[in-house]
Amino acid sequence: MLEIRPNCEQCGKDLPNTSTEAMICSFECTYCRDCALDLFENVCPGCGGNFEKRPIRPLKMVQKYPASGTKIFVPKDLEKVKSLSEKLKSIAPEKR
Ligand SMILES: [Zn+2]
Ligand SMILES: [Zn+2]
Repeated sequence: MLEIRPNCEQCGKDLPNTSTEAMICSFECTYCRDCALDLFENVCPGCGGNFEKRPIRPLKMVQKYPASGTKIFVPKDLEKVKSLSEKLKSIAPEKR
């Protein structure tokens, strides 16, 4: 089950379940749209994969299966981020 992490792991911005700005990679690394697309250029700094918009869990379901309350805040070294993005951003996600 998707974890629905509560904040952007790079800038700390709150990303509740209902946020339309939350982006995730296949490992559920969670970032706001600004970090995922502008800063990381759609290359996840953890795994090199792409991001997709995180789906919103419906109200009834989130009562039964709550979003994660565990904040993860581990800003990445932007020098390393840049070199990884440079290497991978021009390669389509399905070919990375
Ligand atoms: Zn962010
Ligand atoms: Zn990732």
